[in-house]
Amino acid sequence: MTLALARKWRPRNFAELIGQDHVVRAISNALTQNRLHHAYLLTGTRGVGKTTLARIIAKALNCEIGVSADPCGKCGACTEIDAGRHVDVIELDAASNTQVDNMRDLLENALYAPTSGRFKVYIIDEVHMLSRNAFNAMLKTLEEPPAHIKFILATTDPQKVPVTVLSRCLQFNLKQIPPGLIRGRLEYVLGKEGVPFETPALNLLARAAEGSMRDALSLLDQAIAHGAGKVEETSVREMLGAVDRSYLFSLLKALASGQGPALLAEAERMAARSLSFDAALQELATLLHRVALAQTLPEALPDDEPERDTLLGLAGAFSEEDVQLLYQIAIHGRRDLGLAPDEFAGFTMTLMRMLAFVPVEPGESALAATPGTGRPESKAAASAGTAAAAGTQQATGKASLSAEQELADWRTLVGRIKVGGMARMLADNCEFRSFDGDRLELAVPEAHKHLLEKVYTDKLQAALAEYFGRKLRLRISTGGTGNTPAEIENQERQAKLAKAIESIDTDPFVRELVENFDAQVKDSSIKPIQ
Ligand SMILES: [Zn+2]
Repeated sequence: MTLALARKWRPRNFAELIGQDHVVRAISNALTQNRLHHAYLLTGTRGVGKTTLARIIAKALNCEIGVSADPCGKCGACTEIDAGRHVDVIELDAASNTQVDNMRDLLENALYAPTSGRFKVYIIDEVHMLSRNAFNAMLKTLEEPPAHIKFILATTDPQKVPVTVLSRCLQFNLKQIPPGLIRGRLEYVLGKEGVPFETPALNLLARAAEGSMRDALSLLDQAIAHGAGKVEETSVREMLGAVDRSYLFSLLKALASGQGPALLAEAERMAARSLSFDAALQELATLLHRVALAQTLPEALPDDEPERDTLLGLAGAFSEEDVQLLYQIAIHGRRDLGLAPDEFAGFTMTLMRMLAFVPVEPGESALAATPGTGRPESKAAASAGTAAAAGTQQATGKASLSAEQELADWRTLVGRIKVGGMARMLADNCEFRSFDGDRLELAVPEAHKHLLEKVYTDKLQAALAEYFGRKLRLRISTGGTGNTPAEIENQERQAKLAKAIESIDTDPFVRELVENFDAQVKDSSIKPIQ
């Protein structure tokens, strides 16, 4: 195998171009029906097949057998285009041809009829890199194109292409190729090459390629070399290095069981392997996203997903809220990494926040809060008064509750009615005053009275009517005691924050860390993110 796989297996016709069916269909139809446009703009991220598609179009236009969506691939024109040496198919990389002079020469030459083909085809890659003068020169030709000229422009950044040029092109957006399709193609290529492989290894490669078939084939080349002629899971994991997710699983397992020391030990192992903590937090967020998916749509996990069992295990170990929270902390942690004294400190601090915020059953956790401090529920319940009383009854089931009782537990009710946007904000900032069986009185604090717009109150009233199956008369006054869902949640967040700070301060593992790093845990660095 001397020829790199990416070159050897570059698609040579529309049928081989994977994952771009929508574009292929449109272009094939145009070719078949002879509705040819003089300029095409192909957009999409790197490695999705833009220049490959451009070459196939060039063949379709210049194949000696005739213009068709199915160029023969064998004639002189087809083979020369495949080899990149057809005299009338001019390929340019704008990244290295920014001079206007080149462009002008090129376009002057364009006026002459093609030498051997039917059309002169200009393929300009990364066209957004052309200078303004070069664009202007091209625009002249685009405005009055000779019938024998076709432009196929490709770019990863269409925003940077002048509107005057964009408006004269037929634009096609190539998509990132889903991992499943990439895996299928790799399987096909390996079959043809006679290289033995393990399917989980291909899944790993397909995911690492991030939507680019070219990258996937390059990685496959490397994997074959690395695995001495075989593509096996362990070898590919090793080769991909940072993409190996086993340490991430260890971190999440330690979090799920509230084991601070195990968490720190894993972070130290990562430091010893010189893993990038920035990449690790990104990977962790990606993994949490997949755990969330496994919780919501377990049936969407493919059967041959190499990490299927682990993902399902983690999906069961955390509540859905926990996963959302951990995801947020990972994202914020990554953002703050640059501000941390060093990456290791920033990373372990992020882990500590996660540990502090994942509620573990008392007794199970090294960081379990001391009883009697910062109990958010009791605080909230005390201020919630009657609402909390109704909330207790609430647990006995909705069926036994009257509309009065449900309305009195306003916070729970708001969570149940179908209301969103600003109307939801209004509902969150209202407190229950009274209900006489027909008229519902709510109050909104002065600070939030801007929410009292008729359009929002109407929406809230409609949502209540839908929930109760009848229309209630709704009156919202300003004032009240501040016993609103928004305020209760705020208090709970504060209590949770107090608990987190307290946990972090008293935990021996954190203390050791603080001493080792000669640092202080600042309250302001711990924020409840929810
Ligand atoms: Zn041909």
